[in-house]
Amino acid sequence: MSIIKLHSTYFKKYISEEKIAEAVDSMVEQITEDCKGETPVFVGILNGSFMLVADLVRKYNYNCTVSFVKLASYVGTSSTGKIKQLVGLNEDLEGKTVIILEDIIDTGNTLQEIYDIFSGRKLKQLKIATLFFKPDVFKKELKIDYIGIPIPDKFIIGYGLDYDGLGRNLASIYQLTTPPKMKNIVLFGPPGAGKGTQADMLKKKYNLLHISTGDVFRSNINNKTELGILAKSFMDNGNLVPDEVTINMLKAEVDKNSNANGFIFDGFPRTKSQAKALDEFLEEKGEIVSGMIALEVPENLLVTRLLERGKISGRIDDQDESKIRNRFNEYNTKTAVLKDYYQIQGKYFGANGVGTIDDITIRLSEIIDQL
Ligand code: AMP
Repeated sequence: MSIIKLHSTYFKKYISEEKIAEAVDSMVEQITEDCKGETPVFVGILNGSFMLVADLVRKYNYNCTVSFVKLASYVGTSSTGKIKQLVGLNEDLEGKTVIILEDIIDTGNTLQEIYDIFSGRKLKQLKIATLFFKPDVFKKELKIDYIGIPIPDKFIIGYGLDYDGLGRNLASIYQLTTPPKMKNIVLFGPPGAGKGTQADMLKKKYNLLHISTGDVFRSNINNKTELGILAKSFMDNGNLVPDEVTINMLKAEVDKNSNANGFIFDGFPRTKSQAKALDEFLEEKGEIVSGMIALEVPENLLVTRLLERGKISGRIDDQDESKIRNRFNEYNTKTAVLKDYYQIQGKYFGANGVGTIDDITIRLSEIIDQL
């Protein structure tokens, strides 16, 4: 995912895993060259450096030892003020080559503290390696021996770096971005759950555009377009139209309405690859899926509803119980997995889809208002 939300702040991908791996490789190459015949002590500065240390020492093919320290500050006496102390450094480092591993160096204040603490320890040499370095804000005279990636003075998170505790586990680096402008809702549920009916209510209430892939296919069938002819054979039997066809059609529908406040996607995505395509497509525009709302209705009630609808609408796929069952089968095997896809992202919301139309609209609105 290239846009993520942490503590209601949005971040977008800035430096990829691959770029980070290349930078670590090149640091390891230089360190290896400089440490021939030595057994360096790699000292990671917690918390942020843990990812770098794990990756870097795994790529270092010679003997070394690994330690972690944490720079803790505690309040001293009124005359000494705040005192910094390294916690966790218990071993004897006399005569050793120590390489400090930092995730990021910006002003250099922390680095200076670390330097001062190590300088009393009679090391053979002290070297500094940092994955990220902000040359524009660095204001110390200290030498930094190994730099992975110089970056401008931006706030970054991921790969060990956090935003108020979150984001350390991200494999790539992210930077701040403006919040998305659109509200994009995926309305989810098995055939007959009432997605179309509710989308009609919600689009007016929230001034959103309703895109039903089923409706777009049906209008193509009525107009006998090439797309319609292709889709009809799948639809009449209750099978899904192939992903590529559906995804391209959906993108075209969104692009026709690029000024919309947001969209209600009804009947899309229906497969994991459609969900991924939607994420990528929206993220190219700086937008995201705000949430997926699932209408939950027991299957037996759905069959009754669909057969009733078939009598009025004449939809072929609504008139035959075996075709309806096949659509449920498609839903259960290909579409229901999307619950997990969105749940992992914290974007899944279930709503009871049994009740009057108005009651259900109220339930859905309560969810949309929080998004
Ligand atoms: P619906 O009106 O949403 O019940 O869709 C009717 C039929 O259109 C489905 O049974 C599929 O054959 C086709 N269809 C609609 N949306 C999609 C989609 N996202 N992916 C594949 N097929 C779809």
